[in-house]
Amino acid sequence: MIEFFDLRRSHDPLRSSFHNVLDRVIDSSEYVLGSTVNEFETEFADFCQSKFCIGTNSGTSALHLALEACGISAGDEVITTPMTFIATSAAISYLGAIPVFVDVDPLTWNIDPDKIESAITPRTKAIMPVHLHGLMADMPKIMQIAKAHNLKVVEDSAQSHGASIDGIVSSGFGDASGYSFYPGKNLGALGEAGAVVTNSEEISDRVRLMRNWGSPARYVHTEVAFNYRMEGIQGGFLNVKLPHMKKWTAERMAIARKYTDGLTEHGIQCPSVPKGFEHVFHVFAILSQNREMLTKNFALRKIGSGVHYPIPVHLQAAYKNLGHNVGSFPVAERLASSFFSLPIFPGMTEEEIDLVIQTVVDTEKPE
Ligand SMILES: *Cc1c(COP(=O)(O)O)cnc(C)c1O
Repeated sequence: MIEFFDLRRSHDPLRSSFHNVLDRVIDSSEYVLGSTVNEFETEFADFCQSKFCIGTNSGTSALHLALEACGISAGDEVITTPMTFIATSAAISYLGAIPVFVDVDPLTWNIDPDKIESAITPRTKAIMPVHLHGLMADMPKIMQIAKAHNLKVVEDSAQSHGASIDGIVSSGFGDASGYSFYPGKNLGALGEAGAVVTNSEEISDRVRLMRNWGSPARYVHTEVAFNYRMEGIQGGFLNVKLPHMKKWTAERMAIARKYTDGLTEHGIQCPSVPKGFEHVFHVFAILSQNREMLTKNFALRKIGSGVHYPIPVHLQAAYKNLGHNVGSFPVAERLASSFFSLPIFPGMTEEEIDLVIQTVVDTEKPE
């Protein structure tokens, strides 16, 4: 059996360190924020080559606070991609703002920068690119458009810890960036957690205020805000895991290389990585016209699989009020019907990688 993401492979060797975190937090009683979270914020800002990191209780909260701190409010339009997890557009909707979808590029699967300008209206306030599957959107082009139209840029970096373009890490381009540390992400807590990363002191201060009841000092509340604080134990668990990220990311990239080598020789379409981009392979998706057969054969051989994502956000019932239909964003829709995600995680063995490749080839190219 091969799980889609076997977290035990990376967690088992760290078990005693996790137990030490529990002891430390029980000894200090710093259950919410506190020294473990402070340490993580310093280290993760460094990992992102950025000045500020503010820990939150989820990636969704981080995106919500990042948008809020960029001044997004009711009635504003925010341009984003329909090929993402619903949290991206939900964060926009929480502020009463309107997600305006722009179709994705057929090769990178990320928001197509050439289609952004025609979606800009006088109410557009921000662009929110998503670095889908761990490959960054074309940030240099997106920043150029944002500058020309005086728009804020909030990066959804929930899948792209450590990804880069010409050495500039995810979150190094936009005004602010939201990360998720959901257990299944490339860097995951042992529960829910997230963070805002930014180079702007003003945005950092605003996010710190708004994650903690709008409270600049004890008993004082200058805003009606949120309880979006990171837990002390999660900060501690993340401190244990962060030093392993370089090694884990290299492992994901090595597995992706083996998949790509083993599958493209059979004509199977794998992720394409533009020059200068470093893909961190949160997800390794192939495109297939036989997804049902693949799903069935993977299940028969007890191999995990997934689809990220089968229904683009503009076709979700949650957004039927926006009035989109089948055909509104044809590239995203075509990808949604052919994406098939293979298992990829640190600790996968050569035999497992080979079995996954063989199962795809047996299904797609039967002799
Ligand atoms: C996981 C994810 C989120 C939400 O993060 P949570 O920590 O689960 O709230 C947002 N956007 C994308 C693209 C994600 O994959």
